Amino acid sequence: LTTLTDEARIALDTFSGRATGLFSPTLRIGVTGLSRAGKTVFITALVHNLIHGGRLPLFEAQKSGRIAQAKLEEQPDDAVPRFQYEDHVAALVEDRIWPESTRAISELRLTVEFESASGWNRMFSSGRLSLDIVDYPGEWLLDLPLLAKSYATFSREAFELAQLPVRADLAQDWLALSGTIDPDAPAEELAARKLAETFSAYLRACREDKRALSTLPPGRFLMPGDMEGSPALTFAPLPTLSERAKPGSLQAMMERRYEAYKTHVVRPFFREHITRLDRQIVLIDAMQAMNAGAEAVADLERALTEILACFRQGRGSVFTDLFSRRIDRLLIAATKADHLHHESHDRLQAIVRKLTDRAIKRADFSGAKVEVLAMAAVRATREGTVKQGREVLPVIIGTPLSGETIDGQSFDGNTETAIFPGDLPEKPDSIFQDLQTSAEAPDEAAIRFVRFRPPRLERTAEGVKLSLPHIRLDRALQFLIGDRLA
Ligand code: GDP
Repeated sequence: LTTLTDEARIALDTFSGRATGLFSPTLRIGVTGLSRAGKTVFITALVHNLIHGGRLPLFEAQKSGRIAQAKLEEQPDDAVPRFQYEDHVAALVEDRIWPESTRAISELRLTVEFESASGWNRMFSSGRLSLDIVDYPGEWLLDLPLLAKSYATFSREAFELAQLPVRADLAQDWLALSGTIDPDAPAEELAARKLAETFSAYLRACREDKRALSTLPPGRFLMPGDMEGSPALTFAPLPTLSERAKPGSLQAMMERRYEAYKTHVVRPFFREHITRLDRQIVLIDAMQAMNAGAEAVADLERALTEILACFRQGRGSVFTDLFSRRIDRLLIAATKADHLHHESHDRLQAIVRKLTDRAIKRADFSGAKVEVLAMAAVRATREGTVKQGREVLPVIIGTPLSGETIDGQSFDGNTETAIFPGDLPEKPDSIFQDLQTSAEAPDEAAIRFVRFRPPRLERTAEGVKLSLPHIRLDRALQFLIGDRLA
């Protein structure tokens, strides 16, 4: 009954939201991606460029001077933390350090006042559009398949995966502890906590391992948000389960908590946040995966397939069977293109298309527009050339972060340096082979990756600081909101 009431309430909220939307239209944009994909930087740069009238030639409304102003307004959802835009801008612009990354869901409302391009629209539109930008960890999306799985299935699969040779060493402690546990023994908080701790340590180790193993659910074990330490997060799979858990046993307790995790964490997240989104951008750090090698690339592809499956439209997905939703535009964007010379930007885009090809084909996005883009929300480098003998090499120039090294040289965080970033392979397929070793892509084709400090902002003749530089952020904006400002 509770579920029914909840559904009804959300339907009503959505309906009234749409109704009031007639007067002050809103567009809810989800921003996600795995940890460190660039969500925080993207939102900060997007808002900064809109508020400060940044250089956005491919964003039509801005280019044609139809945006009167863009300003932050009170965030409408009282129970969701606000995206700390001001702190992030201060870090980027004043201190030239990267802001603190996303750890949980947060939200920000930006209202754009504009003039429609067509006389018809001018007559009927309010000339205002509120963008509710919702930032959330991509890890949380990986929980969706759990909704269709019993505790027994979840447990069995977790043990099967952990025993695979590629994971067994990382899972050692958890597997050893699990071996000493009798699921029929009386439920004990301490045992539950120890198991949950070693299990999540194993999940974290998988993610941090240089083999770049695929990210495993439960997503909150990796990114707990404000649920850390709560009973719904204090469970773990158990081996050799009885068909029916003995009342009062450890198995009964774990089963109950697993179900609580689904009921109190996973379902509300999808129902209250994901189903309300109109548009979604999924950010990916393809550069880092390519830098780590072919296995990491294959793994990124796997994770993306799971993430994108959450936005499937077709019937027969867990999502559509449980919730209805209405995302009509989906942008998949590789960030950090400023690590490459512009000649490689289209190659990066082709690689991202390749990475998401299978996922897009498999998921049925009918009714939604899908676009793939290579971009840099913040451009930390500029381009130049360096003469080497007779050759003129294209380079990127930036300030490497303190502690970064390349060719044995280490940097102090204050020295501007020109770096030959290398080229991406011409054929996107070759990223699935190791860039360092493949015959097609000999050594010099490997990309050279250093992290740079955020850029120093240019000033106008009057001394006013310009907005954050970017690569193709305007294209992302045009795709995500351009049609609503027409
Ligand atoms: P989140 O975990 O998805 O919120 O990731 P962040 O937005 O915090 O980004 C993680 C890190 O990636 C940052 O600290 C930067 O080092 C780097 N980064 C993100 N976006 C860009 C970009 O557009 N250009 C460059 N050069 N680095 C970026």
